[in-house]
Amino acid sequence: MRQKLLLFVLALVLTTITISAREKYAIVIHGGAGVMSRDKMSEELRTEYKAKLNEALVLGKKMLQEGASATDVVVKVINVMEDSPLFNAGKGAVFTHDGVNELDASIMEGKTQNAGAVSGVRDVKNPICAARAVMDNSEHVMLSGAGASEFAKLQGLEIVPNKYFYTERRYQSLQQLLKKERERTKKDNMGTVGCVVLDQDGNLCAGTSTGGMTNKKYGRIGDSPIIGAGTYANNNTCALSCTGHGEYYIRLGFARDISALVEYKNLSVAEACHEEIKKLSEMGGTGGVIGLDADGNIAMEFNTSGMFRGYIKSSGEKDIAIFKNE
Ligand code: ASP
Repeated sequence: MRQKLLLFVLALVLTTITISAREKYAIVIHGGAGVMSRDKMSEELRTEYKAKLNEALVLGKKMLQEGASATDVVVKVINVMEDSPLFNAGKGAVFTHDGVNELDASIMEGKTQNAGAVSGVRDVKNPICAARAVMDNSEHVMLSGAGASEFAKLQGLEIVPNKYFYTERRYQSLQQLLKKERERTKKDNMGTVGCVVLDQDGNLCAGTSTGGMTNKKYGRIGDSPIIGAGTYANNNTCALSCTGHGEYYIRLGFARDISALVEYKNLSVAEACHEEIKKLSEMGGTGGVIGLDADGNIAMEFNTSGMFRGYIKSSGEKDIAIFKNE
């Protein structure tokens, strides 16, 4: 009897140690990766970006403290960035070759492996909400174009005219590209947004939202709405959201490959992200990724000169940065 009691107490102590060694909750976000130079970005603009990233993180932390699910937090945190003209998602989406805005988004839950995505939508104010509705309220994983909009409308989501997404900065980027007929994918796509969350129940969720690539044609779709390319989550491995030149991410099966490196090679999420970014570089692609595992270990890797990024943990640890080595 005494032995049994001792064993019980030992098990209790071990469980307590394991739980307290694990972060109770954590959030990592990105606001796009790309060519960024410290000299060319004004102090004022840097401050503006950091303030918006901070607003998103603070909202997410408050929700998690109050017991919100990882999925609710991913959606609300991404909404903050979608509603800002600073990012290439929602309000600040880039323009297609034809001068309209077509948006993509996806979300995936780590516990259930449920996922939802929309691609090429022109009138859904917050595409990440539509992605979530596809996950929760349909039997599909991805809906596209007019059909996705019709579904979003039926779900009661906010529909806006395409001109809502007009911003002078993104419009001028398209005009420059059209004028110079330069390689169409190399400029000002920066600003895709993403979020990965670990909630108090130990569940992971990942989400990504984007306007895609400036000057895109023929209904081009990138990696962001593709589960396994731009977004992936599995409680047993990690949650991931990507940003960068989508064609490379699709070919690499980027996010799913990172999860496989964690699962099969036993790499940490940071090591796996690092290895995958190396593969991206070898292929000639550019971009970044954020990752998080169920113990609250984070990753923020990129091969560009900068990536808007930040994280916050229940321990209070927090950082927001833009450039490499910052
Ligand atoms: N990955 C996005 C796309 O290819 C763009 C980006 O993240 O910058 O559509």
